[in-house]
Amino acid sequence: MSHPLDHATAAPSTLPSYLQQDNLGPWGVYLQQVDRVEPYLGNLARWVETLKRPKRTLIVDVPILMDNGTIAHYEGYRVQHNISRGPGKGGVRFHQDVTLSEVMALSAWMSIKNAAVNVPFGGAKGGIRVDPKKLSQGELERMTRRYTSEIGIIIGPNKDIPAPDVNTNEQIMAWMMDTYSVNQGSTATGVVTGKPLDLGGSLGRREATGRGVFTVGVEAARHIGMEISGARIAVQGMGNVGGVAAKLFAHAGARVVAAQDHGGTIYRAEGFDVPALLAHVAEAGTVAGFAHAERMNNHEFWSVDCDILIPAALEQQITASNAGIIKARMIIEGANGPTTPEADDILQDRNILVLPDVIANAGGVTVSYFEWVQDFSNFFWSEDDINARLVRIMKEAFGAVWEVSQDKKVSLRTATFIVGCTRILHAREMRGLYP
Ligand code: NAD
Repeated sequence: MSHPLDHATAAPSTLPSYLQQDNLGPWGVYLQQVDRVEPYLGNLARWVETLKRPKRTLIVDVPILMDNGTIAHYEGYRVQHNISRGPGKGGVRFHQDVTLSEVMALSAWMSIKNAAVNVPFGGAKGGIRVDPKKLSQGELERMTRRYTSEIGIIIGPNKDIPAPDVNTNEQIMAWMMDTYSVNQGSTATGVVTGKPLDLGGSLGRREATGRGVFTVGVEAARHIGMEISGARIAVQGMGNVGGVAAKLFAHAGARVVAAQDHGGTIYRAEGFDVPALLAHVAEAGTVAGFAHAERMNNHEFWSVDCDILIPAALEQQITASNAGIIKARMIIEGANGPTTPEADDILQDRNILVLPDVIANAGGVTVSYFEWVQDFSNFFWSEDDINARLVRIMKEAFGAVWEVSQDKKVSLRTATFIVGCTRILHAREMRGLYP
């Protein structure tokens, strides 16, 4: 007997106003990306509205006592975009420019990414609108703990598992794990990933995203006949993702010729000594002032002579205004959402291959998945095991996306969305509508 849902179609509906972003914010960019994939979803397209509405959106007030005796209030968010395939999973960002639109988009990209690499998670993301560099260590800890307690009603090892993102790290994950555990009365290591090793963290997690960026970069280079040895690389963001990617590419014989971060831009035609550059960043907090390089104007970074460009900082860095001057043959998106849809079109017209965030930076969440599995089983794997499994998953996922893109003659971004959205909406359809 057929079920009424078998014949259901998407009813015309209007998104609530806070979900309509007039294509300006990151959520608007994500909506445009979904529109591009819709024609390839076949019958599953009737469920596509699911992807345009986050499942849960929580906004919390985070009041803390400052060192000077005043009380400050910060705005915090946790968004679970989709949990059809498993618990929510995604990082927590502390940044003065965090907005609800940004957190919603980042949570949605997590849904697509987790489905694209086929880890059993939905997508989620969180953040606090704060410049953490202006807080003392005590203030940072109090803010992290209060935020964790406020979002405690929707997170948990089987519900939603936060992780580090911009300006959050192992220490912050340790405080989050402790706060959640104290509130519920027993130690729950699996509530966050990206923890210190002694608290149930995983070997290889810190380097995982950069390693994934490197792995898909090498695979894509192989497909287009580009040699990594000798390739010139420009990297925006020398943090967890960009720094590790730069190190691995340099180790493979590439030349990292330009680097930009919040403090400035540097250039060296022969390539930097990357370990020395990373040591400088660790000490000075920025690439600026690195002795063995020339200073470069921030705008010039985008037109620098290079073969591979790796944006690994923030969203919406490659736009209609700079996509036309990029000289790279390939862009590997270490950051989430660094390229706007208009820029995507310009890059495609110019034959520049874009390896999209939703596959290129999935290495972090893949090893987060390994960490979560290890915490549940209390059995910890060797770093070699972890790296080998990571590389295998990234290569397989990238290979599948590459095939879809060749078969359907679409960009790698649309191909990754096709793979990810199909998996999510198929799960959605099989679960059915309740009631
Ligand atoms: P991080 O805090 O370690 O590093 C961020 C870097 O961006 C720093 O070098 C900083 O100086 C630079 N930056 C900040 N503002 C800038 C600006 N205005 N112009 C140029 N550079 C600027 O963060 P991260 O963990 O390396 O994350 C970077 C990006 O990668 C983010 O988009 C994040 O969402 C994404 N990402 C991170 C992970 C992860 O595992 N850490 C996983 C997937 C995606």
